[in-house]
Amino acid sequence: MVSGRNLFLAIHVLGVACFAYIVARRLVPLVRAQSDPRFDHPIARLGKVFQFWLGQWKHPRYKFAGALHILIFAGFILLALRAFSLLIVGVSADFVMPGLSGRTGRIYDLVTDYAATVVFMCMVVAVVRRLVFRPARYAVPEKFGKAHTADAVFLLGLIAVLMVADSVLAASRAARLSAQGLPVETLAFLSLPWMLQAMFAAMPVATLAGLSSGAYLAHEITFYFLLCYRPFGIQFHVETSLFSVYFAKLKRGTLKPVRWNVPEDRLDQVKSFGVKTFEDFTWKHMLDFYSCADCGRCADNCPSYAVGRPLAPRFLTIKSRDYAFRHYPVFGNAHNGEPLIGNLYSEDEIWSCTTCGACEEECPLLVEYIDKIVDLRRGMIDDGNVPQSLQKPLKALESRGNPYGKMEKKRADWTKTAELPQAGKVKVLDGKNGADTLYFVDSITSYDDRMQSIGRATARILSELGKNFGILGAAEKDSGHEVRRFGEETLFAALRDHNTDAIKNAGVERIVTADPHAYNALKHDYKDLPPVEHISQVIAREVKTGTVRFNPVADEGKVYTYHDPCYLGRHNQVYDDPRTVLDAIPGLKRVEMKRDRDRSFCCGGGGLMLFYEPKEEQRMGVVRVRMAEESGASVIVTACPFCMANIEDAIKVAGLEGKMSAIDLAELVDQQMVRGGRGEKSETTKLETVTCGG
Ligand code: SF4
Ligand code: SF4
Repeated sequence: MVSGRNLFLAIHVLGVACFAYIVARRLVPLVRAQSDPRFDHPIARLGKVFQFWLGQWKHPRYKFAGALHILIFAGFILLALRAFSLLIVGVSADFVMPGLSGRTGRIYDLVTDYAATVVFMCMVVAVVRRLVFRPARYAVPEKFGKAHTADAVFLLGLIAVLMVADSVLAASRAARLSAQGLPVETLAFLSLPWMLQAMFAAMPVATLAGLSSGAYLAHEITFYFLLCYRPFGIQFHVETSLFSVYFAKLKRGTLKPVRWNVPEDRLDQVKSFGVKTFEDFTWKHMLDFYSCADCGRCADNCPSYAVGRPLAPRFLTIKSRDYAFRHYPVFGNAHNGEPLIGNLYSEDEIWSCTTCGACEEECPLLVEYIDKIVDLRRGMIDDGNVPQSLQKPLKALESRGNPYGKMEKKRADWTKTAELPQAGKVKVLDGKNGADTLYFVDSITSYDDRMQSIGRATARILSELGKNFGILGAAEKDSGHEVRRFGEETLFAALRDHNTDAIKNAGVERIVTADPHAYNALKHDYKDLPPVEHISQVIAREVKTGTVRFNPVADEGKVYTYHDPCYLGRHNQVYDDPRTVLDAIPGLKRVEMKRDRDRSFCCGGGGLMLFYEPKEEQRMGVVRVRMAEESGASVIVTACPFCMANIEDAIKVAGLEGKMSAIDLAELVDQQMVRGGRGEKSETTKLETVTCGG
């Protein structure tokens, strides 16, 4: 006959051994994965753990689900010591966790009585929610696979069993001691153990002793079963999320290099670019697959998913995790090497992403998407798999430095117009002319007839602010921001190197741009450049110091709303400056859309999307314009030429012409600025008077 102590010891040894084996098997693909240097900045990483893992920072973004998760998480943290003590008590009956004896232990017992109760109730609510109310974001469209509802409910049920076993153990022990006339500590009033003790009060001592043993056994078996079962499904995040958050990306707006361990000047020796097979992902990206809790928040905020494109970030992860489980089984041999595109993911799925970052912003576990998607695109590009509609702009970028195929010498033609009274007088920093500020214009503003107005407004503002600025003119090429996010790393490197030389030759001290994509590229994708600012930051600073004043808006009946461009807002956290500028304009009524700031809804312009027509049910821009309409706005202000292109187009498609209009922040400022406020020359003579070389 096996004694209780030996039985419990055997359960511990078996449970720990099984868990260690399963986790070791789960680590196999991570060991074979690409490298990823995430062991730097331990303090910053610990800060992330405190904020996002322990502090559950992002959970309240979904109020009900967030509150539920915070309660469960807090309960788990509180119960961890109690569960650990219970494990040891089975083999050493008198064990008391150091620090938990006496009064402290008494308080801890009361707190954990409530914690077990709260976790149990949360499990019941979560099961009902999953089975009855089912928030829309949990749905799994057929094209993305099957729902994991049964698995989720089973695991929630197991946690409920664990809480009940824990409570029965505490209640039966208290009832037994009381029946024996021994001193007994009071259980927490109205907690689950307290209620169970009241139910057990009339039971004989022998029955209560049996109940205690049974509850203990049930607790131990459920505990180890849960521990070993979790790595087979979505609950694996309980074990992995701490590491995922610790190793999360630290710098927004950046993109991972093609290979972390290969310097750029040796990339020509790399046999294959990007991710083609599962093993091409980095170990951190694989860890992300294990850490996803399948909460659906990323897809719920993904504009591509919202408009019916074949992409939902959540399923990128779930499909890869299922792939890892299938191809790296716990029992049996690993079999790998299958191409992901065409098997796990479709081409359209991967091209559908605008790299807007909404998914990453929302994920409570900091799961990364953009780097993975760009890596998958790099793989496709490396295989010559370029969508038809993008071939021409890419060739033009290669040969002419802009996606339109226009002549380099025409790049500064936007300055030669009657709208700039000193036509042709924006300084071109060609070596003969110097300035301390470079206005980096980028391709869309240089060549697109409509967007050139943003360029002229920006030039007039800089001039009015008394900045000694110039442009690169024909020496400027596309910033390459979209090219890089499209996966064309080699072309991006050529554009970057060209622009870097041109900027350095210009000898400027700072760079200003009105294009958030150029801003992000110069700030994060380029190296060793002077500091770069978006024009909204420059204007906001002048507004705050009172050096810029505005005339009241002409039509006070208009209602304005600000659309946060993804690469200004989410990727670079510039939310307040454009709003500060707008709020400084007398008489301007401003409302927020229901998705604003870090939840802004992408217009659809990022990632070379102006040249790519993905399959979709509706246009992102139209969805955004409808949001503006719902907010009661009649004017959408943005601060990005790509947004302007999409939003103006969407206003037409939505049939809102005449009711709704769009204007760039620079255009609005240019229109409303009090001229000569700095006591300088009037508008018509503000621009630099050096003849344009372009
Ligand atoms: S970056 Fe934007 S478009 Fe791409 S998957 Fe994430 S939310 Fe969707
Ligand atoms: S990636 Fe993050 S947001 Fe998306 S389903 Fe997983 S845990 Fe939720």
